[in-house]
Amino acid sequence: MHENNDSFEAVIGLEVHSQLLTKTKMFCSCPNIFGMKPNTAVCPVCLALPGALPVINIEAVRLAVKAALALNININKKSLFARKNYFYPDLPKGYQISQYLDPVSSNGYLDIETEDASKKNKINKRIRINRLHIEEDAGKLIHIGNRSYVDLNRAGTPLVEIVSEPDISSAAEAVAYLKALREILVYLSVSDGNMEEGSFRCDANVSVRRKGDHQLGTRAEVKNVNSFKFVEKAIEYEIERQIDLILSGGKVIQETRLYNSKENITRPMRGKEEAHDYRYFEEPDLPPLILSEEFVNEIKNSITELPSEKRRKYVSEYKLTEYDAEVLTQNKDMAGYFEDLIKENLGRIEIKKLANWVINDLLFGLKSITSISKPIEEEVVEKLISEDEGWAGNSKIIGNFIPMYKTKLTDVSAENFLELILEVEKGNINKNIGNIVLLEMLKNPSKKAAEIIKEKNLAQVSDDKGIEDIVKQAVSENQKEFADLVAGKDKLFGFFLGEIMKKTKGKANPKKANEILRKYVDENK
Ligand code: ADP
Ligand code: MG
Ligand code: ZN
Repeated sequence: MHENNDSFEAVIGLEVHSQLLTKTKMFCSCPNIFGMKPNTAVCPVCLALPGALPVINIEAVRLAVKAALALNININKKSLFARKNYFYPDLPKGYQISQYLDPVSSNGYLDIETEDASKKNKINKRIRINRLHIEEDAGKLIHIGNRSYVDLNRAGTPLVEIVSEPDISSAAEAVAYLKALREILVYLSVSDGNMEEGSFRCDANVSVRRKGDHQLGTRAEVKNVNSFKFVEKAIEYEIERQIDLILSGGKVIQETRLYNSKENITRPMRGKEEAHDYRYFEEPDLPPLILSEEFVNEIKNSITELPSEKRRKYVSEYKLTEYDAEVLTQNKDMAGYFEDLIKENLGRIEIKKLANWVINDLLFGLKSITSISKPIEEEVVEKLISEDEGWAGNSKIIGNFIPMYKTKLTDVSAENFLELILEVEKGNINKNIGNIVLLEMLKNPSKKAAEIIKEKNLAQVSDDKGIEDIVKQAVSENQKEFADLVAGKDKLFGFFLGEIMKKTKGKANPKKANEILRKYVDENK
């Protein structure tokens, strides 16, 4: 049988390094801050001056355990630090303190959701995690012209390394795994997840084998991939390369390769024969890391609901769409805000409606207000009222202005926002006016909806007498049109409604206006 690409399958295992959001470094009290002046966040310990001794940063341990628990990884009550020995200019000690034989946690899993090849069906897949261990980062080399400089600010920064089992079978799955992993670490404030700054990095181990084979093929390890897009491309390239190599009679060799994003290829960096013998041994300057039951339990109890759990709840319990659930859990603030709103609501308004208010009005309003350059002028507000297009129309009008307000989502309290929603639900103002009030609230987050409505005289005209007067006024100004309407040209009904809205600056209760106008037409038949 003739073999082609389809005769093969890919096997991928990922090693992720994630910096921990601690105040200080892993084994000394230097600040753990990105972007400081080179070599200013250093001390005898991270510079490896003779006689300096490391001390374990308990906050880093706490974050590592938190991440491990969220990833369903077993916590090992006793773990050991080890020295991984190699020479490189960014590593002053000549070894990296890591964990080797006894990591702080091992054997876990992460459930991911991907699509099948047709991109039509969702597949759920469990990726096993081999281990999560604690280690320290190295410094950085900076190459300018033909000189190289060393910045040791990063040396000693706390890291966790999370090693997956080779359960991943495509580039898309690898990206889904990384996104799910990153989301959890960021949600729990374990890491800032910043791939560009290198606080979340990934090495991809890739091999291929003939479908049906049970033995793993020889793998190449691809380093230097610093975005989801590059991970995807690097893995796709590597799978292709290995299959082509085998089909043309060659053999994959075990080696480390570097991804070059400009050329979209991987290139050998070092082969097995040059591979380091790290001469691991137990770190003599640190005691074993012993974790008490209480310590672990306390961390367990501090873990809040994870975004994937929230999404599931939003869809099954709150009956929201997957899309809505996705938007509302995009970060911790967002989900927290939405849940505060539900708490304040006390069941008065359907949750689906609350979700719509947040997504269609609040988020859109925030986006508009933070992308407007000068205060919205009265005439614009007038226009907003009469256009009757909601935010979609508003953005067209507001769109011409440039940034100005720095309002954040959480600036408008859930309580205030809910009051506004209730004003609309009770019919005190209509939806369009509601958006005007919201705009004001976003400009002045401390102001209450009722205050703004009163100040700007935006309350809806709902009293029959008031609306009747306006109907009569509109009729006397447009007698010919009214005669036509009475004679049966019903298209003109909308014209008169528009007139009423114009005269009340959009404040007439639309239902009432409709009823009263209809009655008036009938009476004049
Ligand atoms: P090392 O310590 O040399 O990096 P490990 O055995 O710890 O090697 O594996 C590192 C990563 O490589 C793990 O994520 C593992 O799942 C993955 N891996 C191991 N063998 C293969 C293979 N044949 N193909 C793809 N990935 C593999
Ligand atoms: Mg490795
Ligand atoms: Zn230091």
